[in-house]
Amino acid sequence: MAVCGAACAAALPDIFLITVDTLRADHLGCYGYPVNTSPTIDALASRSLLFEDFVCDVPLTAPSFGAMFTSQYPRLNGNVRNGLPLPDRPAYLPELLHDVGYQTFCVQSNWTLKRDLSRMDRGFDEYDDSFSTKRWGIAVSERPGDDVVERALELLARRDPAKPLFFWIHFSDPHAPYKDHREFHRDTQRIPKNDRAAQTRARYDSEVAFTDDCIARVMEKLPRENAFVVFLADHGESLYEHGYVGHGRRIYHDNLRVPLLISGPGISPLRTKAPARGIDIAPTILGLLGMAPVQGMLGTDLIKAPPAHDRVRVVETYGGAVLRLPGARALMTSQPPGKIGVIVGPWKLIIDGSRTELFNLETDPGELKDLSRAEPDRVQHMRSFAEQFESTYPRRKEVKAELSNEDIEALKSQGYLD
Ligand SMILES: [Zn+2]
Repeated sequence: MAVCGAACAAALPDIFLITVDTLRADHLGCYGYPVNTSPTIDALASRSLLFEDFVCDVPLTAPSFGAMFTSQYPRLNGNVRNGLPLPDRPAYLPELLHDVGYQTFCVQSNWTLKRDLSRMDRGFDEYDDSFSTKRWGIAVSERPGDDVVERALELLARRDPAKPLFFWIHFSDPHAPYKDHREFHRDTQRIPKNDRAAQTRARYDSEVAFTDDCIARVMEKLPRENAFVVFLADHGESLYEHGYVGHGRRIYHDNLRVPLLISGPGISPLRTKAPARGIDIAPTILGLLGMAPVQGMLGTDLIKAPPAHDRVRVVETYGGAVLRLPGARALMTSQPPGKIGVIVGPWKLIIDGSRTELFNLETDPGELKDLSRAEPDRVQHMRSFAEQFESTYPRRKEVKAELSNEDIEALKSQGYLD
């Protein structure tokens, strides 16, 4: 493709990657949620290939996107926590697209994805991360959806019509703290005032509905001709399940299972149960353009080579952000993952040091009934996949974090430094 020049590049389709931070699949109508949080996303789903079983590689913003765009596990590219920059070496989707003639735009909204912290601006003509921690005198770490829409539409109007466009638009509203968008609070009357968990979920849902409305305002301006829309989230959120609120430290499915929709030329609307994961995103987007994955990419093209039902998916998490004190930060490179998960078919094993939990996701999607004592052979078999993963993919340790005081303040307000 690179050899056929500008005329060839102009024929390439536009790609709009619309992503929402902290968005659980099961809080969207198209994934079965009974509350009307997502009319726009549901309409998009009705003309998309919808992946029912898409999990992030790690439930943290920068490491999850880093894995998607390099098609490498966080332990391999070194980006295992928020605040650790992505190294220059692994091939990076936005840069690959830029190299074949794409104009590349991004509107960013999460502090952890700022260029100085994440180095994820590689290959972008415009990487707009120009929001500050101070808004009306209050420290915030995310850019509100209305601002994302405004900036995205400004950039869209400035696109070069002679070039195909890759545009990553990232919304962060469902990330904590959850604002109460009263006009999007669709179930208020039914929630008892003293039910804290239900109140929290309602506020979270109002953030999702608000984001959905913002997406509608972007979607109506996007070209439909010769354009793909890929919609996904970086990780989910625990909303009092297993006694936890947030993400990053646990790997139950409320943190891992996120939406993935792909629509565009030649894609039939369909629902698939193919076991997908974050590292598949770069090979899949390259495949939409007729390009093969580059060397070092470990994911699969979900459309050309859908993974089999018994695919082994190993995920892990190392905790929230990098540590606050430089000395403690240096020790992180030798720390093992906090938790490892192995998913094969309906089975999921969670390894937390010497403790294990085994769940059948088909019969127990809430992961409430630990079967590890009842099925010791299965535990052993699944544990061997984790051991194999650790020995096949040694952890890269040379990545160093450099945090400004403002970064520390922003990460703290997101609940990562505690
Ligand atoms: Zn995130």
